[in-house]
Amino acid sequence: MTSKQKKNLMRIIVALTLFIIIFVVDKFINLASVFNGALNWLLPFSLYLAVYIIIGYDVIYKALINIKNGQIFDECFLMLVATIGAFSLAIYRGVNGLQIEGFDEACAVLLFYQIGEFFQNYAVSKSRKSISALMDIRPDYANLRFQNKIQTVDPEVVQIDDIIVINPGEKVPLDGIVVKGETTLDTKSLTGEAKPSCVVVGDSVISGTINLSSTIEVKVTRQFYNSTVSKVLELVENASSKKAPSEKFITKFARYYTPIVVFLAIFLAIVPSIITGNWNIWIYRALSFLVVSCPCALVISIPLTFFSGIGVASKKGILIKGSNYLEKFSKADTFVFDKTGTLTKGNFVITKIYPEEKSEEILRLAVIAEHDLSHPIAKSICAKYQKDFPKNYLMTDLQGLGIVAKNEKDIILCGNEKLMKKYHINYERCQESGTIVYVAQNNKLIGYIVINDEIKEESYVLINYLNNIKAKVIMLTGDNEVTAKHVAEELRIPNYQASLLPQNKYTYLSNVIKNNHRAVCFVGDGINDAPSLMISDIGISMGGIGSDAAIEASDIVLMKDDLKSIIEARKIAKKTMKIVLENIWLAIVIKVLILILSALGITNMWVAVFGDVGVTILAILNSLRVFLE
Ligand code: ADP
Ligand code: MG
Repeated sequence: MTSKQKKNLMRIIVALTLFIIIFVVDKFINLASVFNGALNWLLPFSLYLAVYIIIGYDVIYKALINIKNGQIFDECFLMLVATIGAFSLAIYRGVNGLQIEGFDEACAVLLFYQIGEFFQNYAVSKSRKSISALMDIRPDYANLRFQNKIQTVDPEVVQIDDIIVINPGEKVPLDGIVVKGETTLDTKSLTGEAKPSCVVVGDSVISGTINLSSTIEVKVTRQFYNSTVSKVLELVENASSKKAPSEKFITKFARYYTPIVVFLAIFLAIVPSIITGNWNIWIYRALSFLVVSCPCALVISIPLTFFSGIGVASKKGILIKGSNYLEKFSKADTFVFDKTGTLTKGNFVITKIYPEEKSEEILRLAVIAEHDLSHPIAKSICAKYQKDFPKNYLMTDLQGLGIVAKNEKDIILCGNEKLMKKYHINYERCQESGTIVYVAQNNKLIGYIVINDEIKEESYVLINYLNNIKAKVIMLTGDNEVTAKHVAEELRIPNYQASLLPQNKYTYLSNVIKNNHRAVCFVGDGINDAPSLMISDIGISMGGIGSDAAIEASDIVLMKDDLKSIIEARKIAKKTMKIVLENIWLAIVIKVLILILSALGITNMWVAVFGDVGVTILAILNSLRVFLE
């Protein structure tokens, strides 16, 4: 509990105790009979007024400020009018010799409002805290190695290429590459994945993970503001500012709803009174009407529900950038997938190099062209070649085609058929199944490498799930028709498009989006598909750790490199939306009911107070159900 929450709790306890004492004493000795005559209301009035001020000074203050700023129709205003009305009515009855009632109710309105407010505040800060605790990844310091000394510094001052030392038990403060030692890392806080991962010299490590077993030295590759940990934290911190349509609806709703209620209340106070002549009954009913009509239950519980949904997801290594995406995702009916690295492992195995006698040379040329790339094809090819090779080439990545590497006397081409055609190379189409990487040097085909990728286990589970919920599934790939067809058939994906350049993927996807009435998800690995991630209604990127392009371009990041998270995310989104709708209905139905009852005079202001606060508390409790499995 924060100190402000503690203060509020104290205030509630003091006011509630005073209130109960006054209430009970009043019931026994009737405070109004202490003074006789026209001033009989003075004693109960002063006592209740004290409670009223203790419990409600901030509400009164806020209402007055809002009135001064011209925004009169908010919940504070409703309560101020209702309670001042109740006080006046009680005084009026006292002056006219009727039995005094209304002071206690006026205090109760504010008292229970504050209890509800406290409860809500506590719930919100609790779920906010749980998110940041789950995401307890912010490093406090880095051990910088400077010559032979080690200095503890702020991670923000560490530069690229500095060497930092990470001891067991410490958080990895910055992204980098291991240069000394080996250890296991706990990535749970980033990915939700409990299995520790082993790293040795040459492996990259990601900030926010925890070193478990032994000391390592790491060469820093990114400054702190650019590191994974900063990106992730930024994302989580901004999540609550992106409002879902239902949330915006509630804000708008409150804007129209409150004035309408106020005018209805005025109407209720005046018209029947003129007809029946019974002013104080109808004013009293109008005042209860005002109390019950506060939209707090909605205004409070809906953002809380979304917040809880985002929190639950982040516990499972699924980062959702805002409640708008959560809402859209729950409605998504079309899922478009990138193939390589998303549905398949992107872990290519070389199955053939042709002609065989030149295989050494072909591999060497391919590695010269590919060694600087993060594309799965490049990584897989380079992993197979340990020898030295010249690095004086200038490489150009023609996305969706392959690579061109040039220096003064040499041009190496390494890529698919489209690349060969573009450079007018004579080649014969290879009939092998798999992805074919043709290698040409100085306008002559040298040979080709056949590589094969494996389908991820979880792709079967995910596609099966999507087919079962009758979602439309589409696979887009830059790979050749043969491979694409094989993967699509294997996974039972009915629609696929092969041989697409990144820009073709983009155009195809825009058409899908244009013809869709609900929401389209694009799932990619963040390598050369950032534009597609951006234009889709919900861009989902895989294995967010390490790739900042993906984190930035997508709306949902799966920190765990596991497609099954999409199923989990979908369930969370559905559940969150269900609870949001439940809360909207719960609040509206109960309130309308009490509104009608109080207009008819069947209930009194007490029921109105409980109606308002009760619904709020019910809605809050309901929204916490998101956290239940
Ligand atoms: P996908 O759509 O399956 O993710 P990409 O768009 O990344 O595939 O690549 C499409 C095709 O372009 C690949 O199948 C390959 O033929 C060629 N290609 C892309 N990058 C490279 C590379 N670095 N080396 C060789 N070929 C490449
Ligand atoms: Mg790709």
